[in-house]
Amino acid sequence: MTDYPKPPFPKQPQAVPGSQRNMHPVPDCGEQSYKGSGRLQGKIALITGADSGIGRAVAIAFAREGADVAIAYLNEHEDALETARWVEDAGRQTLLLPGDIAHKAQCQTLVDKTVERFGRIDILVNNAAFQMSHDTIEDITDEEWVMTFDVNITAMFRICKAALKHMKAGSSIINTSSVNSDLPKPTLLAYATTKGAIANFTGGLAQMLGPRNIRVNSVAPGPIWTPLIVSTMPDDEVQNFGSETPLGRPGQPVEVAPIYVLLASDEASYITGQRYGITGGKPIL
Ligand code: NAD
Ligand code: MG
Repeated sequence: MTDYPKPPFPKQPQAVPGSQRNMHPVPDCGEQSYKGSGRLQGKIALITGADSGIGRAVAIAFAREGADVAIAYLNEHEDALETARWVEDAGRQTLLLPGDIAHKAQCQTLVDKTVERFGRIDILVNNAAFQMSHDTIEDITDEEWVMTFDVNITAMFRICKAALKHMKAGSSIINTSSVNSDLPKPTLLAYATTKGAIANFTGGLAQMLGPRNIRVNSVAPGPIWTPLIVSTMPDDEVQNFGSETPLGRPGQPVEVAPIYVLLASDEASYITGQRYGITGGKPIL
């Protein structure tokens, strides 16, 4: 708990979607630390936004637990190749799936290519997201509002719908929500609204899929040190990121990954329809 970096952090503006390798300090995705114990042996996972941040930490953990991992991402090829190398170093197979999930066809392509390569999907992690900070509602264009919904929640619906054709009883869907799902940060108005929708979608879908023995849960991270932050937040917020939490620092992606492993594993056979906070001490509602 005491080894991870604390604020203040250096200013480091980056363009969206951000590059993990150019961050200071570089986020810790468990590259040197996560130890697996066979909890996902032989499973097939599709993870969106798996090039960097939380998605990379989940990809590394899943691979070290014995899963093959399809890595979907927007266009950060260098970050994605690095994630793929870590998956292969764990002795597992991987597949790189770049492209914009705001487009309906790309959502179908992710699933088709994963199934073509691996034959099925056991674990679907819907983790990709877009956000941008704006001080007033007038600053948010109609196009950005709609795009935020397309990427964060409509793609989730489309990918779930396509993937479920290839998911058997015992499979698990994990959606990345946020603490913004119940405590919306006003400067992230569109994003926070989609995160509320994700929490709600998760609860509804879990009830719908219970009879098919497919579980659906969401994770609500607090401040986690990732490219999303440095590419979308004002300098002063980046510099003080995580300081308001009881632990006084942001979480590192490696600290978020274990809940995804649990929710993906067969040990979680009675856990569905829930939302799990990983917040450094602030309760979620
Ligand atoms: P990240 O930037 O490392 O990951 C987000 C990924 O989404 C990117 O790597 C990118 O490849 C992908 N993506 C973005 N737009 C896309 C598009 N149009 N098409 C396809 N892929 C696209 O940042 P992260 O913080 O690890 O984000 C992962 C998830 O965690 C997101 O859902 C985010 O909302 C959530 N989250 C993060 C925090 C935090 O503080 N970092 C807090 C709460 C929730
Ligand atoms: Mg990225």
